[in-house]
Amino acid sequence: MRYLLFLVISYSYIFANAHIFVYHRFGDNNHQSTNTTIKELEKEFEYFKQNNYTVVPLKDIIQKINNKEEVPEKWIALTIDDAYKSFYTYGLEVFKKYNYPFTLYVYVEATNKKYGDFMTWEELKVASKYGSIGLHSYGHPHLTHLTNEEIYQDTKKALDIFTKKMGYSPTTYAYPYGEYNERVQTQLKKFNFNAILNQSTGSITKDTDTQDIHRLALVGVVNIEQKLRYKTFDVQWIAPFEFPKDGILKQIKAKVDPKYKKLKLYITGEGWRDIKVNNGIIDIKLNIYLKKARTRVMLGSNVFNISNNIIIKQRKTNGK
Ligand SMILES: [Zn+2]
Repeated sequence: MRYLLFLVISYSYIFANAHIFVYHRFGDNNHQSTNTTIKELEKEFEYFKQNNYTVVPLKDIIQKINNKEEVPEKWIALTIDDAYKSFYTYGLEVFKKYNYPFTLYVYVEATNKKYGDFMTWEELKVASKYGSIGLHSYGHPHLTHLTNEEIYQDTKKALDIFTKKMGYSPTTYAYPYGEYNERVQTQLKKFNFNAILNQSTGSITKDTDTQDIHRLALVGVVNIEQKLRYKTFDVQWIAPFEFPKDGILKQIKAKVDPKYKKLKLYITGEGWRDIKVNNGIIDIKLNIYLKKARTRVMLGSNVFNISNNIIIKQRKTNGK
């Protein structure tokens, strides 16, 4: 019995994984592909409450990582991208009712130019009483398509306008469309954000890179229990890092814990397949024409315990 108890404790210790979710619109039936109905939002929040999850401010998770402390298993942080008006009109009330903090990511150009569908600076100030506000670029570009200088300028412009309008500098950043690569990361790191968030499925542990944080998208009707099962699987990726120039994926190479003899591999458009691991090395030769400009390559010990790698096709006109 004592042995069993030990197993249970060590299991939860080793697999201490928090989760960060991203929402977009609320109660807006005109945009189904990015919408969460109020009924669904309340269902999800009720699930968190009934199952003893603690919704914490994003900064609490960042602090744990920076202190090299375990991130509690039952912690959740909630984020909202774009700062659509529907959050202010419909979503915010539900967050207030449950007393759940959030981080709202502003698409600065849309707010600054008063695009009708987006929150104003005044509304952002009201919302900031209940959560924090982060940066979601100036022009909401596909960052991987921009030059280094364009990436830097978009971020600088967003930062300057935000700081002037809100009276303080944002400390966290979320990539538009969740799209990035090593080159984009290098440009964004120059701004010393406390955290940079992507939109790739995974979880948060004490070893998470604060400049590359996974978020799970919540849209439509979701199985929240299943979303919370996702864990980060530790993989050292060697290839691919970039979308192949000829569009043909030829090799997957990575290092994992040698205890794994077989794993699962996922490629967008191809689905999951079983692969063999030799002494912790995965080296697979392929010949797959990638049909999607945005392709995910994932490795996992099962479909919920995964490492997520996104590769995005470059536009012909843009170099480095
Ligand atoms: Zn966005």
